[in-house]
Amino acid sequence: MPDFRYQDGEFYCEDVPFRKIAEAVGTPCYVYSRARVIRQYRAFDSAFKDVPHIMAYAIKANSNLAILRVLAKEGAGGDIVSGGELYRALKAGIEPQRIVFAGVGKTDDEIRYALQTGILMFNVESSAELRAIDRVAGDLKTKARVALRINPDIDPKTHPYISTGLKKSKFGISAERALEEFKLASTLRHIEIVGVHKHIGSQLTQLSPYVEALRKMLELIEQLKEIRVEIRYLNVGGGLGITYQDETPPQPEDLSQALAPLVKDLKCTLLFEPGRSIVGNAGVLMTKVLYHKANPDKTFIIVDAAMNDLIRPSLYGAYHEIKPVREMRDKFRKHVLADVVGPICESGDFLAKDRMMPLVDPGELLAVMSAGAYGFSMASNYNSRPRVPEVLVSEKEFHVVRARENYDDLVRGETIPAFLE
Ligand SMILES: *Cc1c(COP(=O)(O)O)cnc(C)c1O
Repeated sequence: MPDFRYQDGEFYCEDVPFRKIAEAVGTPCYVYSRARVIRQYRAFDSAFKDVPHIMAYAIKANSNLAILRVLAKEGAGGDIVSGGELYRALKAGIEPQRIVFAGVGKTDDEIRYALQTGILMFNVESSAELRAIDRVAGDLKTKARVALRINPDIDPKTHPYISTGLKKSKFGISAERALEEFKLASTLRHIEIVGVHKHIGSQLTQLSPYVEALRKMLELIEQLKEIRVEIRYLNVGGGLGITYQDETPPQPEDLSQALAPLVKDLKCTLLFEPGRSIVGNAGVLMTKVLYHKANPDKTFIIVDAAMNDLIRPSLYGAYHEIKPVREMRDKFRKHVLADVVGPICESGDFLAKDRMMPLVDPGELLAVMSAGAYGFSMASNYNSRPRVPEVLVSEKEFHVVRARENYDDLVRGETIPAFLE
């Protein structure tokens, strides 16, 4: 049975009606399906069962501790981009030996923390960072395992803000400079080279950029052999897309069929860093309709969730399907061209724009679909709006895995200095 579905006239997550969650925790709130997270993870993991590999879930997609625990129990590792994410990963029980650390701006403190916990490796993005890691590892009298992140200069054909593998992007080391950087790395006493890494972008809906990038990495691995640098880990990053509207992204099985023949003779462990494809369609943002407002050429449906809760429509022009929680027989409904907007004082505050949809009444609940990735994890307190709760559903049960913030939470840490008294 689908994890999100209509049953007896209302919308369900697993065996729990959304209405029941709204009654218990209020709106807006995020709702996640544990079964869906597990199913997505296993589909990916088992697609590569014939290849030695590590699944390093990209924690930034959804970093709630309970979600991380679900994945830790499946044996997942983690792809982190900050000390905070390392803290979360460890707290949730992800093994440090399965954690990789990416990002262009790692600080000394973060590097030290990661070395002390014994993560698998750093994905290094520049020679300056390589030197910093060597220095901090030296201070700790240890050696740091590293992969160099290579920028293969390939257009992933996705939104520019989530394209990371083009020459002009801030990420990685250019393919031309790669050999030189590996040579530098091999001279540093506290660095142990173990891998190569690439991640060309997110929400990829085609296989060809993935394959093309992998070919470039394989060429590089051959060249590295010639200078006696042996690569044990090939990290192909994340980025597999999901269906938000009518996209037909490749499934893990397709990816496996495309990649496996290329790597079958390679004596490497593959690393994957999927985020969105694991959790994206496992989460929903539930919101309540507050008001209608009709301008001459448009209807606005004003809801209690806003861009601070889910920024993807505002930031990327992303499409999220919106379903009424109470099932509507379409023919009885007036349809309108509507913008679904939140209460924030910005014209960019919308969850849907120019959407043909049933005119839902004030008080009705809506499910904003495909909000499990880059939803809550990108939420802010803008307009001093407390961040919304997160709820994890497991069959008939549901549990608040992050409480709704209150007004005290909003001002925690702020003080009025004595000279203002
Ligand atoms: C964001 C990111 C990922 C995850 O990308 P998805 O599109 O969510 O799979 C993986 N690796 C790196 C280095 C990232 O920055």
